[in-house]
Amino acid sequence: MKPIPFDHTWPYERQMGDIYLTSCPYCSQENILVHLSDRALENAKEGFKARANMPCCRKTMIILEADEDYFWTNEKLR
Ligand SMILES: [Zn+2]
Repeated sequence: MKPIPFDHTWPYERQMGDIYLTSCPYCSQENILVHLSDRALENAKEGFKARANMPCCRKTMIILEADEDYFWTNEKLR
């Protein structure tokens, strides 16, 4: 598999077991609580695809991989 380009990444924050985005890549709303379970995040870190629904604009982010700071997705976000 090709490496995922950096413009396909989006940073996330983890606070008290919840996952937040500082801003939504689709509609720019700030402080988005992402509906993604800890388990799904751990799986994404192992390279299993996860879907995160944005509560603000109802877009679905397809997360191909995750690291401690970023989601690596299947689309250009920047
Ligand atoms: Zn949004």
